Amino acid sequence: MEPQVTSEMAGDRKAGAPVPDPERASGTPHDDVRRRIPHTDALLRDPRLTEAAGLLGAPAVKAAVREAQERARAGRIPPERIGDAAVALLPDTASGLRAVINATGVLLHTNLGRAPLSAAARRAVQEAAGSTDVELDLQSGVRARRGRTALGALRERVPSAGAAHLVNNGAAALALAATALAAGKEIVISRGEMVEIGDGFRLPDLLVSTGARLREVGTTNRTTAADYAAAVGPDTGFVLKVHPSNFRITGFTRAADVGELATLGVPVIVDIGSGLLAPHPMLPEEPDAETQLRAGASLVTASGDKLLGGPQCGLVLGEENLVRAVSRHPLARALRVDKLTLAALEATLTGPPTPTAAALAADPAALVARADRLASDLSAHGVDVRSVESAATVGGGGAPGVILLSAALSLPESFAAALRTRPVPVVGRREAGRGVLDMRAVPPADDERQAEAGRS
Ligand SMILES: *Cc1c(COP(=O)(O)O)cnc(C)c1O
Repeated sequence: MEPQVTSEMAGDRKAGAPVPDPERASGTPHDDVRRRIPHTDALLRDPRLTEAAGLLGAPAVKAAVREAQERARAGRIPPERIGDAAVALLPDTASGLRAVINATGVLLHTNLGRAPLSAAARRAVQEAAGSTDVELDLQSGVRARRGRTALGALRERVPSAGAAHLVNNGAAALALAATALAAGKEIVISRGEMVEIGDGFRLPDLLVSTGARLREVGTTNRTTAADYAAAVGPDTGFVLKVHPSNFRITGFTRAADVGELATLGVPVIVDIGSGLLAPHPMLPEEPDAETQLRAGASLVTASGDKLLGGPQCGLVLGEENLVRAVSRHPLARALRVDKLTLAALEATLTGPPTPTAAALAADPAALVARADRLASDLSAHGVDVRSVESAATVGGGGAPGVILLSAALSLPESFAAALRTRPVPVVGRREAGRGVLDMRAVPPADDERQAEAGRS
């Protein structure tokens, strides 16, 4: 039997201190190995680890060294390999968040941070991360409007918006609009649009928490413009239309359209959710900001990290006086976005197509070809893998019911589970007792990383 290695024994020892090791005298086979394990301090002088400490902080580097020493004590690596092992064990960043490959087939997966940022947005975030001119005009040297260029880019993409305001997320956009425009008043809303977004987040609860009252109209499946008209009165703050972004009601249904509601003499706010700024040919039923404003919406609210493909943020777009009322409310300060978000959003709006747009537009035949190639590569390495047809979805971020033809790798479930804990984690889904790695949300550039994860 190998001697049990306890955490005390694995602990640090002061250089030069005597080594009280009772097992030494008993002459176990690992005595020699233990004696050859360098002290932590000596290992930490390795230039690679010194440099890593500057990037990751000393505790992370020490933890890697201790783990490597532990492995040597357990006989899993030779003592002279401890330095290399510690380097290999170092985390990539000082954050616990790890980059993963989204092979779930859900383009906007909430558990995976929704929209992945474009290369342009990542670069902009990096640039803005230090000191930046977020609230300073460098020409005149005086204070300037925070986020002015991001807001300008947004208005350019949505010409019918007289003004725009940004907050922390879609929920914050609604909460701020309700607070600024309907606190102590009524929000008129259809019973078919009292939705739960996910993880227990119920929109009606949020609205009521602002001090507004809900005036429910119509029924679950049918609500007419006349229903709204009968409810609108002096107490009305605004009429709210909410896009049911994660379910569909079909059959005997009816909903009032924005154009009809715009004639009621009160503001009409449309929560489109997804952040689509203009119509998308593949998503004909998904509302977009420009079309809603043109149809008569006073304000549109949306998320930045769904179909817009940008960072988490909330958009408020529309009539200038209403946007001003929203942006000047004291609560706006508590919901404001940071410089990294502003940078990422602007680059998302002005840069090349986002990864989300690319995944939506991917040609199914190209996805099949990629899956075939990966499957034959991994089969050659002895993996039980097949290339199969797959059905991808947009996800909680919008377009409920839309199926996107895709291709996937089908693997034993245990193998797929192991892929999740590889250095480059690949996250797939389970289907009929097999692990499925769907190609649609995986950027083609990540195929090789995926293959590597599968081979190792
Ligand atoms: C997603 C969504 C929200 C919430 O937006 P977050 O950015 O998640 O806060 C609100 N309304 C609708 C219709 C949505 O789809």
